[in-house]
Amino acid sequence: METLLGSSTSRTGSADRAAPARPTGLSEHGRDTAAVLAGLDALRRDDHDYADGTVFNSICSAPLPVARQVFAQALDTNMGDNRIFPSLRRAETEVTALLGDLLGFPDAGGVATSGGTEANLLAVLAALRRDGRRARTGRPARIVLPESAHFSFDKILAMLGVEPVYAPLTPDLRVRVETLRSLVTEDTALVVATAGTSEAGAVDDVPAIAEHTRALGVPLHVDAATGGFLVPFARDLGHPLPPVGLDVPGVTSVTLDPHKYGGAPIPAGQLLVRDAADLDRLRVASHYRGTHDHHGLLGTRPGAAVLATWAALHTLGRAGYRTLVASVFERRELLLGLLRGAGFAVAPAPDLTVVTVRHPAPGQLVDALERRGFIASVARRYGLLRLVVHWHQSEEQLRALVAALTDADREIGGGAG
Ligand SMILES: *Cc1c(COP(=O)(O)O)cnc(C)c1O
Repeated sequence: METLLGSSTSRTGSADRAAPARPTGLSEHGRDTAAVLAGLDALRRDDHDYADGTVFNSICSAPLPVARQVFAQALDTNMGDNRIFPSLRRAETEVTALLGDLLGFPDAGGVATSGGTEANLLAVLAALRRDGRRARTGRPARIVLPESAHFSFDKILAMLGVEPVYAPLTPDLRVRVETLRSLVTEDTALVVATAGTSEAGAVDDVPAIAEHTRALGVPLHVDAATGGFLVPFARDLGHPLPPVGLDVPGVTSVTLDPHKYGGAPIPAGQLLVRDAADLDRLRVASHYRGTHDHHGLLGTRPGAAVLATWAALHTLGRAGYRTLVASVFERRELLLGLLRGAGFAVAPAPDLTVVTVRHPAPGQLVDALERRGFIASVARRYGLLRLVVHWHQSEEQLRALVAALTDADREIGGGAG
C-alpha cells in the first residue's frame, strides 16, 4: 500500500522483525493537514489500542485522562530551562516528595527521569562514585545483581564498563538470598534487588538482602520500576509481599516508573535516594544562567511527563491507586482461574501482575496468538509464556484471551496441559 511515507507491507504479526519501509526523501512541498493525518492513519494502521483488549505484553498502559490532558497542555515545557518554566522544578520536588512518601520515606531526594533505565543508570553511577570501603580496595568495582535483573542493567553495565556478578534464582524466580549475600565482597560497589521483575513480576526479599548489605555498608538499589506503584497498595490490601522501599533500613535508592502502573504518560521515571549525598555525586553544575544543576542524562527534557505525573498523583490519591491495584489483582485472579480451567499450567504463582505459563513451545504459541490479534510474550530467560495483566483489560477481554490461547494451542498441536 502506498502511504505518505512510501509503500509498506501489511500486518505480518512480527512487526519487530520486519524492516520498516523507507521513504524516498523529504518532499520539496509540504502537504495539508488532512493529507498528513490521512497518511498518519495509514502509518499507524497496525497499532493496537490498549482499550481494544488485545495487549497482554505491556507493563505500560494508557495514562489517566487528566494526565493525558496535562501532558498535551504542557508539551512545550522544558525541564532544562528553569527561567522559562519555574513550575517544573517545583513539580519535580513535589513529585519526589510524594513518591518518597509512597515508598516509605517522605524526605527522599530524587530525580525525575525518562524512565526506569535512566533511573537505574543514575543509581549505579552514584554508587560507583561513593568513596567507601570498596573504593579503597583500588580494584575495579563490581555490582551484584539477580539473574532476573532488568535488561537495562545489561546496557548500563556495558556502558560504564562495570563487571556484573549474577546471583541465581529460586524456583519462584526470586533471587536466592543466601547466595546473593555470599557474592558480596570488598569489591562490591552496589547490590541490586528487584520489586517486580519485568519477566515474571517476582518480588525479591528486600528486607533480608538489606539486612546484610546494611551490616556491610554496601548500598542497595531496589529496581521497583514495575512494582513501585503496586507493592505498597497490594500490601495495604493484604497481599503477602515484603516492603521494598526506603522504609526498609539499608535500602539506599529506588527506581520507580510512573508510566507503568502510575497512570502517567511516557516518559515518566523516578529515582529516589535516601541520602542527599547521592544526589551530589550525580550533580553537574549547569552551564546555563538561572538553571538548576543537572543530575540526569538528558539536557533538554520534557516537563510534560512530570506535570502529568503530578496530576495523576493528586487525582488518584492513595485510595484511587488502591482501588486500581485491587482491580488489577482481581483481574489476575480471574485470569489464573481461566487459564487453569482451560488446562494451562501456571508457574510459578505470581507475586504481582505478570502471569507465566509453562508450555512446550511458548514462542510458537505467542505467534499463533498474534495471528488471532493478541499480543503476548515469552519470558526468554525462563522459556515461559508471559501475560501481563493491566487495568486496560476487561473481564470479557480476559475471557477472549484465554479462548484465543486455547485455540492457538490446538493449532500448534497442543501440549498446554
Ligand atoms: C520497565 C523496567 C525498567 C526500565 O524502565 P524503562 O522505563 O523502560 O526505561 C527497569 N526495570 C524494571 C524492573 C522494569 O520493569
